[in-house]
Amino acid sequence: MGQVMVPLKGELPKIADVVIVGGGIVGVSTAFFCSRAGLKTVVVERREALGSLTTASSTECFRAQFESAENIELMLGSIEIFSHFDEMTGIRDADISLRQQGYLYLTTESQQAEIYGEIVETQHKAGLTDVELLSGDEARARFPYLSPQIVAARYRGGDGWLSVHEVLYGFVKGSQAEFLLQTAAMGIALDTEGVAAVETDRGTIETRRVVVAAGPFSRRVARLAGVELPLTLLRRHRLAVLRCDLVPRRAPLTIDDDTGVHWRPEGAGALIAKAFEEEPEEPKEVVPRDWSFPAMVLDPQSPCSAGRVSPLWNRATNLLNKSNLDLCAGQYTYTPDHMPIIGPCSGVAGLFLNTGYSGHGMMGGPEGGRRLVQLIVGKTSDSDNPFSFERFLGPRAVLEPKERIL
Ligand SMILES: Cc1cc2nc3c(=O)[nH]c(=O)nc-3n(C[C@H](O)[C@H](O)[C@H](O)COP(=O)(O)OP(=O)(O)OC[C@H]3O[C@@H](n4cnc5c(N)ncnc54)[C@H](O)[C@@H]3O)c2cc1C
Repeated sequence: MGQVMVPLKGELPKIADVVIVGGGIVGVSTAFFCSRAGLKTVVVERREALGSLTTASSTECFRAQFESAENIELMLGSIEIFSHFDEMTGIRDADISLRQQGYLYLTTESQQAEIYGEIVETQHKAGLTDVELLSGDEARARFPYLSPQIVAARYRGGDGWLSVHEVLYGFVKGSQAEFLLQTAAMGIALDTEGVAAVETDRGTIETRRVVVAAGPFSRRVARLAGVELPLTLLRRHRLAVLRCDLVPRRAPLTIDDDTGVHWRPEGAGALIAKAFEEEPEEPKEVVPRDWSFPAMVLDPQSPCSAGRVSPLWNRATNLLNKSNLDLCAGQYTYTPDHMPIIGPCSGVAGLFLNTGYSGHGMMGGPEGGRRLVQLIVGKTSDSDNPFSFERFLGPRAVLEPKERIL
């Protein structure tokens, strides 16, 4: 894909049909669909580059293998966008490095094996009929690097990973939206009709529609319009092993479902990630890394070592040293039910929310952006929207997780 010019501190437009706050994958995909719908769209991004906060720390994986029908449908929508990215954006031969090598969930617990049967049945009922339930032996026959301790597996070959950088810049290149870098939203002005303007550190943009797509900062941005969002932030790490010849290049994303540790091939090595429980945090521009993370996932003695289900990592640890490792951390932005908030914000006309993807914004953002724009232009209604903000309001508010997080 050729280089895309994004205006660095481009001239501030005085007026826009919609202003999107945040230039991560969620804001940029929303901008693409807004601009395709004929709206004069402006993205304000505080940082020096698009996609440089949470989006940059993603493991870049996508899956349809969720447990709720709503999320399955959302992710299938994104996978459709990824699969036809060149047609969708109009960029001929766009290469987003799409690798559909599958997601493989594994357990060594016989109790969990029973639950696997139920999960796969639910997925089949939701229309995801290509999820396979495998015994330990069937899984090992297909993926010989697996441990003899595994008793059951769930697998879907159409899941995989891609280059989020290419997706993000494909959306930029395929849209007519204006992307303003180093431009921070500082205020949202309201009048009797609702949203009236976005105040930035470089001046005011008059608009009747604002989209909050500020990732971990979404709570702060929504407060500018007097709205409190039920979002929690948790730090997550991603470890890159730059070179490791033991990693099978055709392996799927391989998940130890008993501990949450997962890895996949990347370049000449692999990416390894895990969600460790930590105290909720404040949003951060720079998320500090904990260098004990590599030991937690690579030391064969660690209870959550990647070698537990994939013994190759027990051999590989001898080959690893700090110069072969690259560690990064970012923040997951959670909602109480672990599903995103996509839609209008009741109470403030013109305020729209696209956030709270709970660790799945790279995969959910593209279809989430498409759906939000359908709501904005009135093609769909919030009463039929499973990701409506309304579900968190009132006495029947949904507060229980509907999805487990990796
Ligand atoms: C370690 C790790 C691994 C992950 N792996 C995956 C994965 O494999 N698959 C997946 O789907 N998801 C994954 N995720 C989650 C995914 O990265 C996020 O859900 C997604 O990147 C969120 O995108 P976003 O655009 O909402 O947020 P961000 O990328 O954080 O973008 C928000 C932007 O808003 C800007 N902003 C904030 N406040 C303002 C303001 N006042 N004015 C202007 N701009 C502002 C910020 O500067 C930022 O650029 C992972 C996350 C982590 C941390």
